[in-house]
Amino acid sequence: MLLSNLSYVLASVLFILGIKKLSHPKTARQGNALAALGMFIAIIATLLSNGQIDLKLILIGVLIGSAIGALFAIKVEMTQMPQMVAIFNGFGGAASALVASAEFLKNGDMSTFTVSTIIISVFVGTLTLTGSFIAFGKLQGFISGQPIVFPGQQLINAILALTLLVVAFLLVQSPGEINYFYYLVAFSAIIGITLTIPIGGADMPVVVSLLNSYSGVAAAATGFVLMNNGLIISGALVGASGLILTNIMCKGMNRSLANVIFGAVGLKTEATENTSGKQIAIKSYSTEEAAMIFDAAEKVIIVPGYGLAVAQAQHAVREVAEFLESKNRKVLYAIHPVAGRMPGHMNVLLAEANIPYEQLKDLDEINSEFEDCDVALVLGANDVVNPAARHDTSSPIYGMPILDVDKSRTVIINKRTMNTGFAGIQNELFGFDNSIMVFGDAKDMLQQLLKDLKDL
Ligand code: NDP
Repeated sequence: MLLSNLSYVLASVLFILGIKKLSHPKTARQGNALAALGMFIAIIATLLSNGQIDLKLILIGVLIGSAIGALFAIKVEMTQMPQMVAIFNGFGGAASALVASAEFLKNGDMSTFTVSTIIISVFVGTLTLTGSFIAFGKLQGFISGQPIVFPGQQLINAILALTLLVVAFLLVQSPGEINYFYYLVAFSAIIGITLTIPIGGADMPVVVSLLNSYSGVAAAATGFVLMNNGLIISGALVGASGLILTNIMCKGMNRSLANVIFGAVGLKTEATENTSGKQIAIKSYSTEEAAMIFDAAEKVIIVPGYGLAVAQAQHAVREVAEFLESKNRKVLYAIHPVAGRMPGHMNVLLAEANIPYEQLKDLDEINSEFEDCDVALVLGANDVVNPAARHDTSSPIYGMPILDVDKSRTVIINKRTMNTGFAGIQNELFGFDNSIMVFGDAKDMLQQLLKDLKDL
């Protein structure tokens, strides 16, 4: 017991060090390895402290799980990461709920404390499972990304929550009544769905992060059921870090968590349809013409967005930046906290292409730099550079801090079409006098731009 608890302390220290190192791209890989080592130690300690475990079954589980995990890690694109995290969260919640259920079905005589922790684990774990699969469906396009709302929805949710409370109370009173347990599972599953369907696809990554936190809460509750300190600590760490991440994302969009969950943002109303349908007069340039503008520029700020990730243009952008630097131009990168589809998306992508960290500037740092910038090169970014966020109170992104690219002398925007970004709204920036569109896939465009720059 003492040895296993000491191992859990060691594992927890490794988890915390791992999380700390994950906060910077330079040390992130090391952090991941440290946390994995911590989990390995915790698993070995748990197996050794439980003598009667069938190791054969566990080994089969490890092999199947590792094979599926490795396949996902290789196959899934960076842009599909939020969906994958959603599935992982769902399975995490399900695992906690299943373990707690097994304890419930196995033990006839349980203390009120144990039954209560089982209820929390089954409720949060099941809700996480169904909620995560709705999130996955919305992100993957299996379900409409539109918020699904209907009259009386909040009332129905309130009734469901109240019924669940009654069921939980009855279960604590009579743990032998198995039907109450089944009702608990059913209501938790339904609440997971009804809480997630009214949230728009654009807000799904925030929901995924919140569900990640829930999966930690479910694990910690299961830790109390099993009286396993390792599980309690790791569950609490996941719960807390998921909540911190959720908060960072909400701040990045200048929204409250309540607004994300109950605001049904992204719902198509006449107002937003009108805005997105408005015709914008644009100027479209070829890469050759754009190259001439770069030739005259002293300071260039590159703004990467989701489209850069889709095009896998991180190496191409580094090559263009290196060429400009070789001609004594100053190049910086402006990183918006919610550019792409998950926090840190752009940092990871640019780090992969060995772009020096010193050139990556956060929103607060870079916004004052646009005023004396000759060219802001917007690559597959849309919502994070939409000036409507500053002044249009009817815009769904109103209040979101944006990168002030429009303050640069020239803004060169690259995207494939005039389609909208994640928030589903048109961008007035494209029609500004100092804006120029260069259409095409980001990678193809950058490769052509580099050729044209060299030909000048
Ligand atoms: P957007 O989703 O606003 O826009 C991306 C643009 O990229 C699109 O307009 C698209 O236009 C273009 N694009 C797509 N593929 C390519 C390609 N191959 N080459 C060139 N362009 C391409 O991205 P942003 O990064 O500006 O904004 C992120 C959005 O995601 C925000 O609304 C944010 O709130 C939301 N979000 C982000 C989270 C995060 O943590 N990062 C979390 C929650 C929400 P076209 O199809 O015409 O090419």
